[in-house]
Amino acid sequence: MPTILTHPLVKHRVTLMRDINTKPKLFRELVNEITEFLAIESLRNLKTVDVPVTTPVGDTVGAKIGESIVIVPILRAGLGMLDAMLRILPYAKVGVLGMQRNEETAEPIPYCAKVPQAKGDELAIVIDPMLATGGSACDAFSQLKKLGYRRIVFLNLVAAPEGIAKVEKEHPDVPVFTAAKDERLNSSFYIVPGLGDAGDRIFGTLTS
Ligand code: URA
Repeated sequence: MPTILTHPLVKHRVTLMRDINTKPKLFRELVNEITEFLAIESLRNLKTVDVPVTTPVGDTVGAKIGESIVIVPILRAGLGMLDAMLRILPYAKVGVLGMQRNEETAEPIPYCAKVPQAKGDELAIVIDPMLATGGSACDAFSQLKKLGYRRIVFLNLVAAPEGIAKVEKEHPDVPVFTAAKDERLNSSFYIVPGLGDAGDRIFGTLTS
């Protein structure tokens, strides 16, 4: 089962984000704010290393993040979540996976892959606002596993039961964190009630 954020501050933002009248500027801000909540919740078990620190009053032992992290937005909508991730993890690397979807079949068509090869035990954090059929997400996880990533986590804003089921079946080792679990997909593979096309709403490219 995915971890679904239930915090009232998240629910409030998800509601504003869904609203058809929310314009791209506010939409992007909400995507970023919700992503920060997702990052904080999903990274609570990050490993830390002890480090000495001297305060104005004395010496103590503090903690620093002791992990290598690669953030992987799925293009294009995943870019909308990237700023927030880099605010929280400014030392992380970024790799990108470009995935277009065939509008008739919803199958993912990979068109770009620029992700560093895993060298050890890096954590790959895949970000994509919508988990609809799960096709792009599963393709992304397979590509990352081929590159040597053994630890992958997926952050998304709105998930459909169909996509959750596909990820759980094909990649049960990948934990999913989402801000909302919706009802279903419609015949065009859009999430209902969802929020429409996340990429278009982030980039202001809605045609109607
Ligand atoms: N991608 C989107 O942007 N929205 C959906 O509802 C499904 C896939």
